[in-house]
Amino acid sequence: MKFDVVTLFPEMIETYCSYSILKRAIENKIIDVETINPRDFTLDKHKKVDDTPYGGGAGMVLMAQPYIDAYESIKKTTNSLTIMLSPQGEPFKDKHAVEFSKYDEIILLCGHYEGYDERIREIIKPREVSIGDFVLTGGELPAICVIDAVSRKLEGTLGKIESADTDSFSNGLLEFPQYTKPREYRGLKVPEVLLNGNHKEIEKFRQEQCILRTKLKRPDLIK
Ligand code: SAM
Repeated sequence: MKFDVVTLFPEMIETYCSYSILKRAIENKIIDVETINPRDFTLDKHKKVDDTPYGGGAGMVLMAQPYIDAYESIKKTTNSLTIMLSPQGEPFKDKHAVEFSKYDEIILLCGHYEGYDERIREIIKPREVSIGDFVLTGGELPAICVIDAVSRKLEGTLGKIESADTDSFSNGLLEFPQYTKPREYRGLKVPEVLLNGNHKEIEKFRQEQCILRTKLKRPDLIK
């Protein structure tokens, strides 16, 4: 899968993608991440990408021309999806990561400062996605969230060691509690059932724990 990220700060994306599992996924050609900087598409000598808002108010607004030209420079495949990162978008959930993982190419539009000139929305007509009801300084972190969550859904990104089969949300519930060595730490013991090698009992314990902690922590997920 190819990710094209339209951003004024490509280094933020490149840095995150040069570590750990995403780095390996890029090396193994499971994903490819490219950045396109609207600043490279400005028409004036000062490389201006933002300006003051019409009607007044604080902050700077991303100008339509360099942004749209940057977007239109991307050679899109037929099975591509364009996503605008915005606090006004639909809340990003695990089901979206699954849905987005079916595309061959995802184009991620990152805003900054006060956000986008509205005509960027009107012309590109992207799917608008938010990573939560709070406002960040830019769309780079949200774009990384989408790249990371979608990449985890692609075959080959996770080794067996990082399997996503039991992850929270994968079966609609939160994951069961996990333990590793030692068996006892500061008087707290690993539940006996996990030590007896009885896979049926372990499975039952984990299933019960999934339901219990979902009821406790995220009752909204229990139908
Ligand atoms: N003035 C905008 C508003 O109130 O809707 C917010 C602009 S925000 C300071 C700058 C950029 O950060 C946005 O254009 C968007 O790309 C990104 N951003 C901020 N919060 C976000 C969120 N919760 N989800 C996705 N993107 C977000």
